[in-house]
Formats: sequence, C-alpha cells, structure tokens
Amino acid sequence: MLGNLARRLRVLGYDSKYESSIEDSDLIRMADKQRRIIVTKDENLSKNAEKIGITTVLIRGNDEIEQIVQVATKINISNFAIDSNSSKCVDCNGKIESIDKIRIMDKVPPGIYERQEKFWICRDCKKLYWEGTHFEKLQEFVQKLNQRLR
Ligand SMILES: [Zn+2]
Repeated sequence: MLGNLARRLRVLGYDSKYESSIEDSDLIRMADKQRRIIVTKDENLSKNAEKIGITTVLIRGNDEIEQIVQVATKINISNFAIDSNSSKCVDCNGKIESIDKIRIMDKVPPGIYERQEKFWICRDCKKLYWEGTHFEKLQEFVQKLNQRLR
C-alpha cells in the first residue's frame, strides 16, 4: 500500500525497505534487528510494534506529500533536500554512485547521452539515473514538501 511512499523516501536519501507480503511478527522482528522505523497504515501492526519499543508512524490518507509530512513530524525531520550523492535507488533501495559518462554510452538513449553530463548507477540493480529525469523533476516536489513542514 505504501510502495510509492517508500520510493519517495529513497529519493530523499532514506534507507527504506518495502514489504507487502510479510507476517506482522516477522516485520516487527526485522525492524527490531535492523533498527528500523515501521511506517504503516495498519493500526494493529503499529500497536504491536510500539509495544516492544519500535518507533512507528501510522499513516493516514493517500496524499503523497501528506504521508511524508506524517513521517517527518514523527521523527523530527524539518527539511528535505535532494542530494544525488545520498539518494537511494527508488527500485531496490540500493546505493547510488556516480559513474563516468563514457561507461554508460550504450545504455541510455542517444538524446539523453548528448544532453546530460552527470549519471549515476545503482550498485545493486544497475538502474541508471541522470539529472534531467530524476533529480530536477523532484526539486518541485521537495519544495512543496518543505513548505508543508514550516
Ligand atoms: Zn537499484
């Protein structure tokens, strides 16, 4: 249910695992072991996790920005920024690192290759990112988000 939220949080640089078919007890155990916060819409899961001291954010509503505001409020984030050096892969939560343009020449459309200077690659799934599509579009989103946090 919160897959999009997980993707957004990764872009913002937050290590975000997404599980859609896992038992509550396994999820709680994982969060405890990996010292994660649980973000969920499931009230029971939230209650059970909090019982053993795991920070949880119970998400209400479907508005993307509002959901992130709910997370931010709970864990005291007052400002977000897009930083291509700390962003996580939206698909797999892997670490993104910059890659020399020449190395990905045959892996992106020629138009993109000509127009863009900076490229990043996910260490894990090898997804490629470039400023035009990935980071610039997101600036507006982050601005909106930060306005809501003020
Ligand atoms: Zn990836």
